[in-house]
Amino acid sequence: MPLFCDVALPVPLDMAFTYAIPAGMESVIGGRVLVPFRQQRMSGIVVELHDRPPKVAAKRVIETLDASPVLDNQLLKLGRWIADYYLAPLGEVFRTMLPLGAEFKRTITYRITEQGHMALHLAGMSGSPGRSRRPHDEQLVEFRVLDQLAERESMREESLRSATKATRALLAGMLRKKWIVREDVSAARDAARTIKVAVLLKAEVETWLAASPEEGQASSLHSAELRSAWTGEGARPHTGTGSAGVPPAVAGTSRPRTRKLNLNQRALIDTLAAAGGRVPVDALRELEIPRTTLSTLVKRGLVQLIDEPQDFTVSKFKPRPSPFEFEFSAPQKEALTKIRDGVQSKKFTGMLLHGVTGSGKTAVYLAGMREVLEQGRSAVLLVPEIGLTPAVAADLHQVFGDEVAILHSGLTDAERAEQWHRIKRGEARVVVGTRSAVFAPVSDLALVIVDEEQDSSYKQEETPRYHARDVAVMRAKMAAAVVVLGSATPSLESYYNAKKNKYTLVELPDRVELRPLPEVEILDMRQEFQEIGHEQVISRKLAEEIRERLEKKEQVMVLLNRRGYSPVVLCRTCGKSLECQNCAIALTHHKREHKMECHYCGFLAPVPKKCAHCGSEYVYFIGTGSEKLEELLHGMFPQARIGRLDRDTVRGREDFERVLNALNEGELDMLVGTQMIAKGHDVHGVTLVGVVGADHALSLPDFRAAERTFQLLTQVAGRAGRGNSPGKVILQTYFPDHYAVQFAARHDFQGFYDKELQFRSWMHYPPYSAIANVLIRSEKLDHALTWSGDLGRWFEKTRHEGIRVLGPAAAPIVRLKRDYRYHFILKSQSREKMNNLLRAMLAEAASRKIPRTQIIVDVDAVWLM
Ligand SMILES: [Zn+2]
Ligand SMILES: [Zn+2]
Repeated sequence: MPLFCDVALPVPLDMAFTYAIPAGMESVIGGRVLVPFRQQRMSGIVVELHDRPPKVAAKRVIETLDASPVLDNQLLKLGRWIADYYLAPLGEVFRTMLPLGAEFKRTITYRITEQGHMALHLAGMSGSPGRSRRPHDEQLVEFRVLDQLAERESMREESLRSATKATRALLAGMLRKKWIVREDVSAARDAARTIKVAVLLKAEVETWLAASPEEGQASSLHSAELRSAWTGEGARPHTGTGSAGVPPAVAGTSRPRTRKLNLNQRALIDTLAAAGGRVPVDALRELEIPRTTLSTLVKRGLVQLIDEPQDFTVSKFKPRPSPFEFEFSAPQKEALTKIRDGVQSKKFTGMLLHGVTGSGKTAVYLAGMREVLEQGRSAVLLVPEIGLTPAVAADLHQVFGDEVAILHSGLTDAERAEQWHRIKRGEARVVVGTRSAVFAPVSDLALVIVDEEQDSSYKQEETPRYHARDVAVMRAKMAAAVVVLGSATPSLESYYNAKKNKYTLVELPDRVELRPLPEVEILDMRQEFQEIGHEQVISRKLAEEIRERLEKKEQVMVLLNRRGYSPVVLCRTCGKSLECQNCAIALTHHKREHKMECHYCGFLAPVPKKCAHCGSEYVYFIGTGSEKLEELLHGMFPQARIGRLDRDTVRGREDFERVLNALNEGELDMLVGTQMIAKGHDVHGVTLVGVVGADHALSLPDFRAAERTFQLLTQVAGRAGRGNSPGKVILQTYFPDHYAVQFAARHDFQGFYDKELQFRSWMHYPPYSAIANVLIRSEKLDHALTWSGDLGRWFEKTRHEGIRVLGPAAAPIVRLKRDYRYHFILKSQSREKMNNLLRAMLAEAASRKIPRTQIIVDVDAVWLM
């Protein structure tokens, strides 16, 4: 056994640490160990085993946490690639890859049982505890423990032991006596979040029915019905058809009763089959069927009861049309064939699936994943933060059953860990999740899909600042798998790569069933202002169109990509606006909650009656956010039922889903909101989309502003006309001539791409150049200035051919979350040269004692603000 191991620890230091392995302990590469680090215990990943003693005496490993690797060779390699590419400490990369935080800090708690209460009670009565012959003081400690636990719900082991001086052995003895119970919180699933679900065991039911000739005609008829339900035609009401309406229980009186299903049992089975085979037990209780029926079916092995996390509930949401309901179009078939060929070749294949909104990309993904699953291999689908709603989870469950693991931000640490273990054990071979699902520990990976690959939620805005799309491509390369990037508005980088033949390009140019793309009308708000003489949020034209749709009972969406009531509060006397204490950002007025809020750090302030700077009472609330828009529309259309979707109305995934469902069910006439309303929802009744403020991003100092605006406009326009009636979009803008607006209105991705590419080429921006944003931050302005000045001078005198260094300059948001911020932007054709220079810069910063945490290196930065 090697004497030493090198461990990558989650600390902001670019190095591994050597520890001695005590005799008799075994560590594995890719496994976790618990080690002392400074004053703490910390868990890290073993990256090397060796016999080379370090210069100073090595500390000893405290505990080996894994007997086999939690990161296999491929994931270890991927982690090293990320650390190298994004200049991030390896230990922090590994921590991001493993959602096992809950296991790092295992909390063990104890509770008192009924027997424990009883023992305590008896001890109180007799004045001396129990009848044990053990030493007196040990009994005292035991009763101290019971006393502590009797007063509370539960208690953590550390607190309990320090309060009572109980040893582990003593607690173990009490466990054996069943006076207390022990709970391992990291392993236990949060019970409040799970529900009981009844699962129909199809095969068993078929066997049962086939083996029950006694039931004669009735059973074969029933079987056919059952099959029709499974094929999606729905169950017909069970009214005792078949043997002349005679209930089978009566028809077969002379034969053994145990082989039959009575009417209630059949009705229950039919309900389950019609709902896709699984229904929460609570929902079944609403049927007028005795409760014993379910338990009988469970006893007979025809139905199984399982615990499921609440988010996977199927029946809460109306079943949606299956993605396979439509005949695949020729381009969809082509895409699927390419995926199939790639998977079979077992060679890396990159593909960009560019499909207009509503063209059926999801159906291609699911078909591809299903094929991979059928071959016994694994697939991972990444979706943007907002894309993983409970309804989507329900759809996935319907297609993949228990073989799908769903990872989203709403999971607790323990749930996340549990999903991770399910995947690692091979129980779930299809993984769907947001950004970090790219690290899912699947084996034999055949297919990785990144849906809406342009979405900025794939970029992690903290260390390691990786981009999940790019990591997905690298992971597919390492696994010799197929990677599919899908989008209606691909990023410039991905489309450029496809054009350069780095990826195969597959276009889906038409909507399903050849539904037309909506007509887009640009409305020049400068002209509107001239004609009516004052600023108006909703133009006359848009108001008229909305009225028309409401009269026809059609639905409307209105996008305003800014939340709150008014974005600026301005003093008319001194001209100053009310800013956040921590950021150089104006506070937004939220009327209903009666507060001023910073949208960057969450700082709250009371709504001012006077100017904070000069005391003047002439404070004005300027501009419109989604809250005010909703109020305005209520005033204009008092009869309309209006819903709003933004970060103020949506606290969790359920809120989001509830509003969308209401729209789907026709319980809402209109939906207003921020970009949340623009993404991926398939609501068939919407025939008009109004855009009243999606272009102010065009004035931001960010080279991706045009691309983002084009993407948002295209996405939101894509919400119109997805059903049988054609859609229309009214695009109000102050930049009617801007090419992003023009091309979006014409649904012309190619045109936008060509134009934007020219600009990127002139300005040396991606995809022509790699960029990195280096941010120097400090709560002390002095430090931020000195450090950035020092590094600026160092860059000046360091040779760096082929790399442009811009800065130092104040960041566009010069103060954020109390930190003053200065930055450099590096651009280079050679990523390798750029990263070498960045490494040298970090070394220089370290030698100048600039704390590593105060320098943010953001390779392939998505935001330069
Ligand atoms: Zn003032
Ligand atoms: Zn702030």
